[in-house]
Amino acid sequence: MRCRSCDAELLPFLDLGTTPLANSFLREDHLAEPEPRFPLEVGFCERCTLVQLMHTVPPEQIFRDYVYVTATSSTITEHFHALAREAVERFGLGPADLVVEFGSNDGTLLKGFEPYGIRTLGVEPATNIAEIAESRGVRTVNDFFGPPVARKLRADEGTAAYIVGCNVVAHIPDINGTMEAVATLLADEGVFQLEAPYLTDLLDKSEFDTVYHEHFFYFSLSALAFAAERHGLRMFDVQHEPVHGGSIRPSFCHAGASHEPTPAVAEGHEREHRRGIDRIETYADFARRVAQIRERLLSLLHEYRAGGRRVAGYGAAAKGNTLLNYCGIGPELLDYVADKNPLKVGLYTPGMHLPVVPAARLAEDRPDYTLILAWNMADEIVSEQSGYREGGGRFLVPIPEPAVVT
Ligand code: ZN
Repeated sequence: MRCRSCDAELLPFLDLGTTPLANSFLREDHLAEPEPRFPLEVGFCERCTLVQLMHTVPPEQIFRDYVYVTATSSTITEHFHALAREAVERFGLGPADLVVEFGSNDGTLLKGFEPYGIRTLGVEPATNIAEIAESRGVRTVNDFFGPPVARKLRADEGTAAYIVGCNVVAHIPDINGTMEAVATLLADEGVFQLEAPYLTDLLDKSEFDTVYHEHFFYFSLSALAFAAERHGLRMFDVQHEPVHGGSIRPSFCHAGASHEPTPAVAEGHEREHRRGIDRIETYADFARRVAQIRERLLSLLHEYRAGGRRVAGYGAAAKGNTLLNYCGIGPELLDYVADKNPLKVGLYTPGMHLPVVPAARLAEDRPDYTLILAWNMADEIVSEQSGYREGGGRFLVPIPEPAVVT
């Protein structure tokens, strides 16, 4: 397999098995049918440092019918509205400007631009989610973001003063197409920001469960800068955000634009080099720690079961399914997975077939332990479930190493 960015040969380092798509929750009447499974293996490119999946599942198979809806998470909604406010203030956006978001989901981020009277447009490939955005009054093109859509938008709407893509650039296997599309649509002095989980957080906190088929890339600054430069774009700033277990938000402009580089870019590159993100040994060490987490988590769950304890899961997140499938945690170890997304309740988790029940079930049912699968939401979940905790329930967080929250 060759690097999707620079075409060099990839070095595989982490094999998570052959698993169903992490967001393909099942209806009860489909449980008996065979599920499509795909290899989930991660590789490293020594030439451009891009960490990526070794196998590609076509995006058309993944993103046309998607159940992740942004607005169901209050943490993410607040984060997006702060991002919109910051972009307006920092880049001086006004009513004459066009803001384009790709992978715009239900329009939550673009809603954040509404109070400023700014013209916005979303690009979202999942038909069901694009319809939700439209019904909330967010203008949305139902398509995949790439060079053809960028050329059409430029012709119809003009160039964009601000383009943003949050947790989406890693979902598009054609990284060169994404960068080309941005370069096509971006105004001469415009700014492109993306937000993506940060590779060094993934390594430092052993967040192996953020690996799933939808997520082709695990970005460092050095790999992103390399991909952007090939298309005439320059990284002039980067911020580090706590959301989704640790994310980066780099800012890009055209190579010849007047945006001054901030010290954060050079500092970030230097820190990455010290962390070893450009060496295969770093990734081999990570793979060893992942195997240890699986062993420790399984021994705890078996111990609880042997002691007659009841254990549930919380958070029917994509990352939870990577963890459940890789570790082999099924109905013999967990009773169910609770979640507050009504689109997921009543379905079953892919691969392990655990039923998804409403979040309120925890307080009624009071299992002895609850494994938090959406650990990036652990603070929100623990505070929302105070009744469960006060009744003696305990939360178990799997990452960066399995630990009971007291
Ligand atoms: Zn490469």
